Amino acid sequence: MSPLRSIFRTVLPGAVLGGLFPGLIAPPASAQTADSAGPPAIVLRAARLFDATTGRMRTDGVIVVQGERIVGVGRDAVAPAGSQVIDLGDATLLPGFIDVHTHLTSEYDPQYYRGVYDNLMRTQAEQALYAARWARRTLEAGFTTVRNLGGTYHVDIGLRNAINKYVTEGPRILTAAYSLGSTGGHCDQTPWPPERVEPAGLLQGVCNGPEACRQAVREQMKYGADVIKICASGGVLSEADPVDVPQLTPEELRAIVSEAHTWKRKVAAHSHGDVAARLAIEAGVDSIEHGSFLTEDTLRLMKSRGVYLVPTRCAVEWVGKQADTYPPQIAEKARAAHAAHEAMFKAALRIGVPIALGTDAGVFPHGQNGREFGLMVDLGMSPHAALLAGTRDAARLLGIEAEAGTLESGKLADVVAVRGDVLANIRSTEQPVLVMWHGRIAVHRPN
Ligand SMILES: [Zn+2]
Repeated sequence: MSPLRSIFRTVLPGAVLGGLFPGLIAPPASAQTADSAGPPAIVLRAARLFDATTGRMRTDGVIVVQGERIVGVGRDAVAPAGSQVIDLGDATLLPGFIDVHTHLTSEYDPQYYRGVYDNLMRTQAEQALYAARWARRTLEAGFTTVRNLGGTYHVDIGLRNAINKYVTEGPRILTAAYSLGSTGGHCDQTPWPPERVEPAGLLQGVCNGPEACRQAVREQMKYGADVIKICASGGVLSEADPVDVPQLTPEELRAIVSEAHTWKRKVAAHSHGDVAARLAIEAGVDSIEHGSFLTEDTLRLMKSRGVYLVPTRCAVEWVGKQADTYPPQIAEKARAAHAAHEAMFKAALRIGVPIALGTDAGVFPHGQNGREFGLMVDLGMSPHAALLAGTRDAARLLGIEAEAGTLESGKLADVVAVRGDVLANIRSTEQPVLVMWHGRIAVHRPN
């Protein structure tokens, strides 16, 4: 079976439409001639449809898909004769989920020390094969688009391109190539003794001074970065730096942001620290990732400037639980970030900071991205708002709202179905019963 066709796995046999909903009737045969050579249209039916254009639940759960596009939604949808009908029964149809913070080309081993050894021994080709598996798991979890914020050896670029050419299956990827940061910072490599492992340079995203940082941005874009990721502050899973201090100067931040924005690339700033986040926001970044120690003043500044918070609750929770297994200097940082993050998230909700769903998948095992919805709801976010953060609002942050994020005619047919009423049970997002990517059925788990 060719790779192109292998994604079609469990499409149910076609069924004849009629009387499903008023208006859902076949047009005259002459209207279909243009499509007669392609695969039949697919009609998805379910008891409910989450409308991310309004944030409301609808009961006319119908989506008509032709090729890779949605051609009709709800009561007024018209399905061509001969369409395949997939009736999902007591389920909710949703836009394909979007995770704006993943690391699809790596995954920490739950045994940290073993993971360090295994990673060091892996060839790039081997790493790419793992990445393909992790991309597939992510798609199977209902995530049809991800923003990938940092990877090595351009495995992320290769993975994105291979998925776009249907060589392998995974979500649509907007990727950053190497993350950018200063020497010794969170985005620099582990401080292996330099006699053993060659230190990273501009090509690998390590830059000092505004002009070097500008060049580092250009290096990433040259090799295909869709977005620029920077380390504005220290991080948890790095050996040599405090978690919260600024790691880029205002001049370096301005150089990075101006260069990226000139090329119409957004800038995602990793920042646990408050001062670092403030400097990054003032320089014009588009999102703050993690945000553990942000103060209310900084959160208000984000709201006024329309800067998104990407909370990565999944990763914060994971490193808090795993802290005892990390080297002591990392464990201490993991506990501190975990302890501070919950209050920050609640303050962000209260203030009304725009939030996009991002998990930092790779810090924890890939394919568990859907847990982020429930973790945000646990801290007081409404299920409606959590779903919008992982669909419409994430698409806006990525600048792909014309193509994805809502279920509307003309958009890409990226669709997820979950059991029952998703607003009553947000954790149904953790195991979708159907995942459609660009009009192709990637997963169908019949009841
Ligand atoms: Zn990350």
